[in-house]
Amino acid sequence: MATPAEKITQKSKGLTFRRYKEGDHKPQGWKESIFQASWSHKCPTYVHRTPPCQGSCPSGEDIRGWLGIVRGMEKPPAGTTWQEYAFQRLTNANPLPAIMGRVCPAPCQKGCNRNTVDDFVGINAVEQFIGDTALKNGYKLAPPGPDTGKKVAIIGGGPAGLSAAYQLRRKGHACVIFDDHEKLGGMMLYGIPGYRVPRDTLQGEIQRILDLGVETRLNTRVGRDVSVEQLEKEFDAVLWALGCKKGRGLPVPGWENTPNCISGVDFLSEFNQQRKHAVPKRVIVVGGGDTSIDVASVARRLGYSFISEDQVKNFGHDNVSEGSEIGYVAHDAAVLGVREGAQVTLTSLFPIDQMTAAEHEIQDAMREGVDIQAGVMPVEILKNNQGLATGLKMCKCTVDKKGIPSPIAGTEYVIEADMIVSAIGQFGDLGEGLDALNNGRGFIDSDPFYQVKGRKGHFVAGDIIRPHLLTTAIGHGAVVANTIDRYFQQSEQVKRPKVDVHHFNLLAKLHEAELAPEEFVAEALEDLRGTHAAKFAVHNYEDRAAFEIISPQGLFLGHFNQVARNLRQEIHISADEVLGHFSERMIGLTDEGAITEAKRCMSCGLCFECDNCVVFCPQEAVKRTPKKEATTGRYVYTEYSRCIGCHICADVCPTGYISMGLGE
Ligand SMILES: Cc1cc2nc3c(=O)[nH]c(=O)nc-3n(C[C@H](O)[C@H](O)[C@H](O)COP(=O)(O)OP(=O)(O)OC[C@H]3O[C@@H](n4cnc5c(N)ncnc54)[C@H](O)[C@@H]3O)c2cc1C
Ligand code: SF4
Ligand code: SF4
Repeated sequence: MATPAEKITQKSKGLTFRRYKEGDHKPQGWKESIFQASWSHKCPTYVHRTPPCQGSCPSGEDIRGWLGIVRGMEKPPAGTTWQEYAFQRLTNANPLPAIMGRVCPAPCQKGCNRNTVDDFVGINAVEQFIGDTALKNGYKLAPPGPDTGKKVAIIGGGPAGLSAAYQLRRKGHACVIFDDHEKLGGMMLYGIPGYRVPRDTLQGEIQRILDLGVETRLNTRVGRDVSVEQLEKEFDAVLWALGCKKGRGLPVPGWENTPNCISGVDFLSEFNQQRKHAVPKRVIVVGGGDTSIDVASVARRLGYSFISEDQVKNFGHDNVSEGSEIGYVAHDAAVLGVREGAQVTLTSLFPIDQMTAAEHEIQDAMREGVDIQAGVMPVEILKNNQGLATGLKMCKCTVDKKGIPSPIAGTEYVIEADMIVSAIGQFGDLGEGLDALNNGRGFIDSDPFYQVKGRKGHFVAGDIIRPHLLTTAIGHGAVVANTIDRYFQQSEQVKRPKVDVHHFNLLAKLHEAELAPEEFVAEALEDLRGTHAAKFAVHNYEDRAAFEIISPQGLFLGHFNQVARNLRQEIHISADEVLGHFSERMIGLTDEGAITEAKRCMSCGLCFECDNCVVFCPQEAVKRTPKKEATTGRYVYTEYSRCIGCHICADVCPTGYISMGLGE
């Protein structure tokens, strides 16, 4: 079904592929022009490249692979359902798909080649579907490898630490996660609110990792409760994955030591530990990223409480009078109070369309009644004679290429406030016995393999290197697990591949289908000059996935019709409904929805079995591989005695899997 015009107007402004040029009124005979093409001595080879979605996923998921499984193109081995097979493929890279499908801002979708045709593939909607289905059906992660006798201390139970623990267990190394909280999850639990990351979903995904035999020491702060020297004695390696939980204050006069000026991470940490039940009447949040949106949206949900006339009469409070604000201090009092929506203002240096928070989160916040003031900077905290902030002086600003704001003179104004929250960035909590790790800016310095500079046996991953995204922390976890593994094997660290992600592995697929090539035994061969009939090689296949990303220009885009994206349903909450609304807003795709969306994937860089090459070859040189010998990536073969090198098959291959090379 083609996309209705009204749905694609916005997107189509950015279309770069056009079937017709301006003024054309007749369909062009592209088939004819292909058939007029010449011949060459080159014949088709089958070349695997990485799609840009994968190249843009910091966890390095084999996205095209799991979409291919969901759409039914790549078949699971006997006894495995497609749902479980897709889960296995995805979790090779990322053990937290249900979380990531919900809150990852999905850089993969920005990179998706389908943007050139109509609209990106809804990758994280399908990812959420795979994650949710796995939890519902109790799928397990890949089992731990044989015990190596090595033991790693992982400091921090956020996504970086959890991902590293998972990958290290798969390699057979024992792991103990230390965390200073009573539960694992890091910012997924103590930062992001539960209506974005549902707690049972998070718990389910974490438990699956612990089930691999990962030990934990919770409520334990390394540096204070256990020293670095103790860890070095007890463990073979130490991984620092302790995130950034210290919020930066506003760099303006009046911020320091003002009781009602706090950081966004502290605000959310209190809320997520059920220690914050209401906010004061007027709240300002300064930021523009994920943290600021979460603070503002939580503040709108909590609302402010005050004592009504009736309550004063009924409860005879000694210390409160009618209209007293209960604010955010005492749970019992807040429960007694009347609750109303707080006035929440979010300010950002950048215009709204350049704020770093996910676009749909910004839209939701505005719909839920957050007043966003963009293109402005804070100037000064205004205080009363008790030392409490009463407002924030702001002014309009310009921002240079480095992100440094400059005030515009004469544009100052004041926003009144009872609480000011700074959500302008975080750094690591590297005090109390961890000072030696601090690079002076609140982070830990790492080399390209995630080894701590100058500290043998110490490794680092996640936000503590540079604050970014959950998916980035998960990607670090996988890479650092490889580094630690090589360190244990006393092997030198080797340069990471240019396209450092998980790839489709044809040899593994052939093994799985019991079609792997035979062993190469030189003595058994009489003639080594030609290998076309040999069974020890995968013929006419080249794997360039580790160093080539396929761009839209490498595809035959004319093959694809415009098809509207299958959107997840979202519950939109108005400003009037938001108070006390803490349930999830996103409804995941059904089986059918996920399959239909996966079918929009163009399988960039790998055959998706469309038959174009078989149908269009004028020489009938391209044949389907007999079913018994076929597997993903080996769906067709060329009879080279018939091929005249006309390159029609390469021209009509939608996925860019065919390159004319053989014969060079
Ligand atoms: C409010 C907020 C919202 C966000 N929203 C999103 C989003 O929507 N999408 C997205 O992709 N990213 C988001 N992020 C970013 C994301 O949460 C981080 O990039 C990610 O959590 C970093 O993972 P990590 O494992 O490095 O650290 P963390 O998740 O911070 O985990 C580190 C853990 O180590 C513990 N720890 C620290 N010091 C010690 C010590 N000395 N001893 C023992 N334990 C210690 C910490 O308490 C914590 O539990 C958000 C961040 C915040 C703050
Ligand atoms: S983790 Fe993020 S970037 Fe990677 S596939 Fe999922 S949504 Fe895309
Ligand atoms: S069309 Fe599919 S393979 Fe290509 S970039 Fe998009 S999701 Fe990836």
